[in-house]
Amino acid sequence: MIVILKQSPNPGQLGSLIEWLKEKGVQVHTSVGERNTILGLVGDTSRIDIDLIAALDIVEDVKRVQEPYKNANRKFHPEDTVIPVGSTQVGGGTLTIMAGPCSVESEEQVVGIAKAVKASGATMLRGGAFKPRTSPYAFQGLGERGLAYLKSAREETGLPIVTELMDVTQLPLFKDVDVIQIGARNMQNFDLLKAVGHQEKPVMIKRGMSATYEEWLMSAEYVMAGGNENVILCERGVRTFESFTRNTLDLCCIPVLRHLTHLPIVVDPSHATGKYWLVEPMALGAVAAGADGLLIEVHNDPEHALCDGSQSLKPGVFDAVSRKLLALHAAMKSIHGEGAST
Ligand code: PEP
Ligand code: MN
Repeated sequence: MIVILKQSPNPGQLGSLIEWLKEKGVQVHTSVGERNTILGLVGDTSRIDIDLIAALDIVEDVKRVQEPYKNANRKFHPEDTVIPVGSTQVGGGTLTIMAGPCSVESEEQVVGIAKAVKASGATMLRGGAFKPRTSPYAFQGLGERGLAYLKSAREETGLPIVTELMDVTQLPLFKDVDVIQIGARNMQNFDLLKAVGHQEKPVMIKRGMSATYEEWLMSAEYVMAGGNENVILCERGVRTFESFTRNTLDLCCIPVLRHLTHLPIVVDPSHATGKYWLVEPMALGAVAAGADGLLIEVHNDPEHALCDGSQSLKPGVFDAVSRKLLALHAAMKSIHGEGAST
């Protein structure tokens, strides 16, 4: 249920309303917007009399929210969420470019790539230290050592780091990470989602291989229900009958999610296509459709990469792609008007 308040509500009356709602056993989330303040109620609202609230002086309207996701719902929070990360941010009109290798292979490799992608306009460094691999015999990542190398790369470049957490027991190692990635295979690992919901680092949730928008938003809801509202959604393609590409990139999710949720949306054309030459057109498509950011795999020597070489861009190619993305983003802003949501 949401309670839309009239402009400049009397603070005393508002305080009593919030207290009364809490006594009824619901959580109250206050979202102060430019026009209205909205109270989002989470919990069993069946015993709350809508007409009673609607009749109050300070209340403009009361609506039941049908969708099962509440905190993630745009109805709860009409304005876009902007997530500060280091000296940058995700959302709010910034084009976030997360770039780096699929997996951290050595300190030299990740520091070198970090310097190159930063010079090309990347705003965050990605790299897997713990890798979810289909085969138990494939390279599983450098683990803790990989995290240490990512931190060296951050020290050298200032780029915040985004890296995947696979297991709750690894969480203490992620204290120094800037954005915790939850991979597609773990999108519905509810214990993991609860654990990252009880800490403060921003969380990027990749879409499960066959997840509907609602299931994906329910995963965000798990994190937000724990108190962590800094959630980023990352589209990385879904499984379809098409086998030419690794997955099928669903760019339609951008306007749909923009409508359903206030959370920022990042697109990963690397895992979505599996082919380096499809990264540029799909990344441009994502920016044109209004994505808040991109996640792009970049490797200094893709032919010898320990993971996902065929979808990785060489630094020189990434440089050209990144420049086009920034130019298109600027052009889209002028088409839509500065700050306008697509
Ligand atoms: C990754 O980003 O390294 C990754 C494993 O992606 P996904 O979870 O989308 O497959
Ligand atoms: Mn990868």
